[in-house]
Amino acid sequence: MDFALSEEQEAIFDMATAFGEAEIAPHAQVWEREGTIPKDLWPKLAELGFGGLYVSEENGGSGLSRLDATLVFEALSQSCASVAAFLSIHNMCAKMLDNYASAELRDRYLPRALTMETFFSYCLTEPGSGSDAAALKTRAERTNEGYVMNGTKAFISGGGYSDAYIVMARTGEDGPRGISSIIVDDGAEGLSFGGLEDKMGWRSQPTRQVQFDDCKVPAGNLLGEEGKGFRYAMAGLDGGRLNIAACSLGAAQAALDATLTYMGERKAFGQPIDQFQALQFRLAEMEIELQAARTFLRQAAWKLDENHPDATKFCAMAKKHVTEVGSRVADQCLQLHGGYGYLADYGIEKIVRDLRVHQILEGTNEIMRLIVARQMLAERG
Ligand SMILES: Cc1cc2nc3c(=O)[nH]c(=O)nc-3n(C[C@H](O)[C@H](O)[C@H](O)COP(=O)(O)OP(=O)(O)OC[C@H]3O[C@@H](n4cnc5c(N)ncnc54)[C@H](O)[C@@H]3O)c2cc1C
Repeated sequence: MDFALSEEQEAIFDMATAFGEAEIAPHAQVWEREGTIPKDLWPKLAELGFGGLYVSEENGGSGLSRLDATLVFEALSQSCASVAAFLSIHNMCAKMLDNYASAELRDRYLPRALTMETFFSYCLTEPGSGSDAAALKTRAERTNEGYVMNGTKAFISGGGYSDAYIVMARTGEDGPRGISSIIVDDGAEGLSFGGLEDKMGWRSQPTRQVQFDDCKVPAGNLLGEEGKGFRYAMAGLDGGRLNIAACSLGAAQAALDATLTYMGERKAFGQPIDQFQALQFRLAEMEIELQAARTFLRQAAWKLDENHPDATKFCAMAKKHVTEVGSRVADQCLQLHGGYGYLADYGIEKIVRDLRVHQILEGTNEIMRLIVARQMLAERG
């Protein structure tokens, strides 16, 4: 058993950290105020191979392992979790193209997804179905010309911003087997968007409803086979959960690093506040929690890379645990900054706000518990 990162993995982490410090951190607060991320950021990230982190090399991607990818998200989140998490969604979509698209569809979309000239959104949630995603109602009727889509997707990261959408829509019976994944291009007839959602965190990512009103989609935009869309959508989620957990980890680590520095500078009662043993113990608790979370996350990523039978359970456990630790640590860091932690200039309140949603999406942390408990009951024999 070897817990060390390889030299290559260290290099990936350092490269992503350096990119974040130079290209993301200086702008993160402006982007959150403006409610959008400039599109010219993405090709720069793509030059590092981050447009298709775990897309196979054979199809032009970086061919990294899931563990390697968590390093990228952890590193970038030290600069901004919202930007890093947005990149994770695009990568989830790129991997769906890599795995399931026909050669024709792949050739049409994947190269520009990898260079990030085409930014992708993932459309599963609807106003009436979130956790119970298989109850979705958006319908894609097959006609002679292709599909005609009707329905609404809710909470779509990149809605009205992305260049293309992977939409999970019903082409058949009720339940998961009646769902297909279909690519809808921005500008398609009948595609429109709701207003910008006013959110607690992830404010630099535009979130909108995505609406289909007799939206016409060519038949060739079907991803893989009809009726398998729900399986495709779920297959990406183990890795997506690792990515989101990594985003919590990186941002919480950045908060802790800043807090350690701040506590050496801030004085109260005639001494730096890092001299109060009660506060030193809190630093120690946070360090222990984050290191344990990191080890757990990397173990789960390793299980997924190894196709281990309990990989899904470990991804769910890690997502639940790491996102909760990340939020706890960020909140404590705000507290240790006193009133200054509450001010935007210090960057800590943004981390607290950004990380909160990680307990809600990619499957809520209640659903993570459900996955773990079901597996435990099944294994009980
Ligand atoms: C900022 C943001 C961005 C998002 N981006 C996207 C995106 O890009 N694409 C996309 O498809 N979706 C996206 N989502 C949607 C997200 O995945 C859903 O919000 C999430 O899955 C929860 O669904 P819901 O909001 O409908 O809550 P519900 O499913 O209505 O859940 C409400 C509460 O009930 C609990 N609950 C539900 N069922 C159970 C159960 N069986 N047992 C125990 N507890 C249960 C939940 O955990 C939760 O606490 C985004 C959401 C947000 C907030």
